[in-house]
Amino acid sequence: MVAARAARVPQPSAAPRRISILGATGSIGGSTLAVIGERPGAYAVEAVTGYRNAAALSAIARAVGARMAAVADPGAYGELKERLAGTGIVAEAGPAAVIEAASRPVDLVVAAIVGAAGLAPTWAALNAGTRIALANKECLVSAGALFMAAARRGGVPILPVDSEHNAIFQLIEGRDLATVERIVVTASGGPFREWSRERMAAATPEDALRHPTWTMGRKITIDSATLMNKGLELIEAHHLFGQPASKLGVLVHPQSIVHGLVTLAGGYVLAALSPPDMRTPIAHCLAWPEGGISTRQLDLAAIGRLDFAPPDEARFPALGVARAALEAGGTATNILSAANEVAVDAFLSGRIGFLEIARIVAESVEQAAARIRVREPESIDEALSIDAEGRRIATELIGRSPSN
Ligand code: NAD
Ligand code: MG
Repeated sequence: MVAARAARVPQPSAAPRRISILGATGSIGGSTLAVIGERPGAYAVEAVTGYRNAAALSAIARAVGARMAAVADPGAYGELKERLAGTGIVAEAGPAAVIEAASRPVDLVVAAIVGAAGLAPTWAALNAGTRIALANKECLVSAGALFMAAARRGGVPILPVDSEHNAIFQLIEGRDLATVERIVVTASGGPFREWSRERMAAATPEDALRHPTWTMGRKITIDSATLMNKGLELIEAHHLFGQPASKLGVLVHPQSIVHGLVTLAGGYVLAALSPPDMRTPIAHCLAWPEGGISTRQLDLAAIGRLDFAPPDEARFPALGVARAALEAGGTATNILSAANEVAVDAFLSGRIGFLEIARIVAESVEQAAARIRVREPESIDEALSIDAEGRRIATELIGRSPSN
C-alpha cells in the first residue's frame, strides 16, 4: 500500500508543476509557500501577488524565483520595483496587474486573496482555463453560480483549500452524489464558544482575534468568532458539492481534528481527520489528482477525545443569517458577504461592537432584498456592482449605529 501510494506522487524528476499564488503575503499564501518548500523541484512559481506589502512580496518572489510579482495598490509600485531591481522578476502594480498575474498560463492558481477583492482575479484565472485551488471562499459566496458554471463550461476543476471542504471533497471524490444524504462541516466554535451574549457585547478585537485552534488572517478570524465563517462555508459547500441547504449541516467540534462528515444512504458516516494545519489541504490541492505528501501525523491516542455539539444559533445569530441568505438564493449571499466585510472592518477599527456585526449583515440583506431587482448576477461585473450596493447599505447602517 505504501509503495503504491508513493508511486502516484509526482516525482521531483518530472517537470515541475507551474503555480501562481494570489495573496502570497497572507496566511494561506504563507502555508502554500511552506508546502512548496517541502517538495523541492515539484513546483515552480510563475507569479505572486499581494496588496501593498512590497517588502514581503519581493522577499517571497526572490525566494521562490517567481517571474512576476504584482501589488494591488499602485502606491506600492515604486518600492516593489526597487526591491526587485536586477533580479529579472517583473514588478507590476494595480488591480489590472493582479488580474494579469492570475491570467498567466500555469497548471494551477492558488486563489488566496481575502474577500471580494479576489473575485476578478480568480474569475480571470478560471476563464483562462486554469485549475484553481480556492481558499478565497467569498468568490463562491458572492457569485457561486457564475463560478461553478464557468468551471463546468471550461472543464476546469475548482479544488477547495478550505479544510472542511477539502476533507469533504476527498470523502466524496469518485462517489455517486445520489448516495450522499448529508454533508456536515465542523466548527471549532471560535474564541467565544463558551461566552455569554453579555460578555460578547463587550468583546474587543483583541479578544476576537485570539482563535483557539487556527492561526489565520484577521477577517476570517473574526468570521470564526461570529460563526459567520461557518455560514459562508455552508454557502461554499452548496456550490462546490451541488447540495441544497437542507442537506448541509454544522457541528461544533472544539478540537478541529474532524473537518468534514458525509452521511451515506445506508447509514454510514464518513469522517476525515487530520491535525489542524492548512498545509494538509493545500498539499492535496497542489498535488491533485495525485496524493499529497504529509509529514503531519495524527496521534489520536495522544488527543484522547473528540467532542461534538450543535451550534448555538441564539448566541451566534450570524450562522442563521447566512443560512437564510443561502435559502433565499439570488443576490442575498452576495450582499451578505459584502456587508460582512464592511461590518468586520468596522468592528476591527473600533466603530461597532462585536454583536453588531451579525445585526448589520442581517439588516443589509433585508434592505437589499427590497431594493435590488436582479435575481441572479449574470456577469462578474454585475456581481461586483451588487457587492458595491451591499457595501453602501452596510456603511449607511454603521453610520446610524448607536455606538457611532
Ligand atoms: P490574509 O489576510 O492573511 O491574506 C490575504 C491576502 O490577500 C494577502 O496576501 C493580502 O495582501 C491580499 N489582499 C488583501 N486585500 C487585497 C486587495 N484589495 N487586492 C489584492 N490582494 C489583497 O487572509 P488569509 O487568512 O490568508 O485568507 C485568505 C482567504 O482564504 C480568505 O478568503 C479566507 O476566508 C480563506 N481561508 C483562510 C484560511 C486560513 O487558515 N487562513 C482557512 C480557510 C480559508
Ligand atoms: Mg474552514
